[in-house]
Amino acid sequence: MKAFVFNGVGRVGLEDVPLPTLKGEGAIIKVISSAVCATDVKIFKSGHFKIREGDRRVLGHEIFGEIVEVSRSYEEDFPVGTRVFVAPNLGCGKCEYCLMGKYNLCADYDAFGITIDGAFAEYMFVPRKAFEQGNVLKLTAAVPEGVVPLVEPLSTCLYNLSNLGLEPGDRVLVFGAGFMGILNALSARMMGASLVVVIDPNEQRLEVAMELGVNLGINPQKQDLNILKKDLTDGKGFDVVIVSVPVPEAQAQALELVSKLGRVSFFAGLPKGTPFPTLNTNVIHYNQITLTGTTGADVEYYRRALNMVVHREDLREKLIRLVSSFVTLEELPNAFERLAAGKELKVVVLNQQGG
Ligand SMILES: [Zn+2]
Ligand SMILES: [Zn+2]
Repeated sequence: MKAFVFNGVGRVGLEDVPLPTLKGEGAIIKVISSAVCATDVKIFKSGHFKIREGDRRVLGHEIFGEIVEVSRSYEEDFPVGTRVFVAPNLGCGKCEYCLMGKYNLCADYDAFGITIDGAFAEYMFVPRKAFEQGNVLKLTAAVPEGVVPLVEPLSTCLYNLSNLGLEPGDRVLVFGAGFMGILNALSARMMGASLVVVIDPNEQRLEVAMELGVNLGINPQKQDLNILKKDLTDGKGFDVVIVSVPVPEAQAQALELVSKLGRVSFFAGLPKGTPFPTLNTNVIHYNQITLTGTTGADVEYYRRALNMVVHREDLREKLIRLVSSFVTLEELPNAFERLAAGKELKVVVLNQQGG
């Protein structure tokens, strides 16, 4: 079968690989659709600490598929033909974080597209652990195929906002109008934020954000952020600031723009080797700021995100508008290059035409 394979830093491409087989308990899914994440690009550009030198890996951890073969133990709940969203992180199952369902914090985690083969392929093996840990979620509603993989990034935003204790009426500032920045902003709106402002030097992306319901898009190269703070919040600052760009200066700036009692989330990690910023820790102290961050989502939020996608047509429409290209597996290498060059907002792979 065809698969999009990572073969070491700077080397990705479409290859012929053997069909996955049912090795032990679990299932084989026929991939219906998958989405490309900034993490895939990060792996391509600088590798991943969990992928050893010389390993090859099918990428792709935003996954929607149909069960085509299943071991006896899961046959009753997941018969052949069941369509499933598959959440990417599998925990060791034994540590204290796993026992809380926070597989995203397990030190000994596995993940599709990182330590085990992922969804940029025609078929994918889903091991027993994924069934046991609740990663395999049935989809019975009619949802456009291209939208389902986006449950994964959506869940990470909902988890982030929940961790921030977002309250109705909060004024929210988001650094970054990439796919994840806009999705955080739209999620904050859905959860009751009164004002959501997004900052990015890319004006096209700011326009997309505003078309989808963000109140204001600001180009920091043209507008002074301190004046913005004064004008929009009476100088008090934003209740919540989310840094969804891997930029140390934005992390430092977040502390200057947040209000007293405000909350700041570092949602994007800094690439390996990036110098850490100098933070004004006195702002945290004197203004009683909560500084936090999240990576991935716990398994509960995958379920919440899937429910939102199933029941909210407005959300599905917005998600589709955030996809800059729907491509086939054959077209993925080109689209991946464009994404890596910053020319795509979000790429979704549809394995069958007409999704
Ligand atoms: Zn992702
Ligand atoms: Zn664990």
